[in-house]
Amino acid sequence: MHELAIAQSIVRLAEQNAKDNQAEEIEELELEIGSLAGIEISSLEFALQSAVKDTMLHRARIVRHDIPAEGRCGDCDAVFPVETLFSPCPQCGSYCVNILKGKELRIKSIVVK
Ligand SMILES: [Zn+2]
Repeated sequence: MHELAIAQSIVRLAEQNAKDNQAEEIEELELEIGSLAGIEISSLEFALQSAVKDTMLHRARIVRHDIPAEGRCGDCDAVFPVETLFSPCPQCGSYCVNILKGKELRIKSIVVK
């Protein structure tokens, strides 16, 4: 299960960060997840619930920021929202699209105690 592995690595990273800051507990964790990151949000949330058990995050509030994907056309320079990695430019129909954002999966911030 892809999302469980991701949830576990998020927890590990957050704990590592908290330990580096001599914290005892993590109160809040902010995540940024792009719409093209390939994450099933409901599976990830479910996986996180079990991944935080017996960790520094067991009482943490998890705040999720969903980032809508955006691309720029390599031919006409239009910037537009991207539904999938293979969407053509809505202006000129070109498939030469550079993804500007939407692939991110990262910890934005953590609040420790
Ligand atoms: Zn274009």
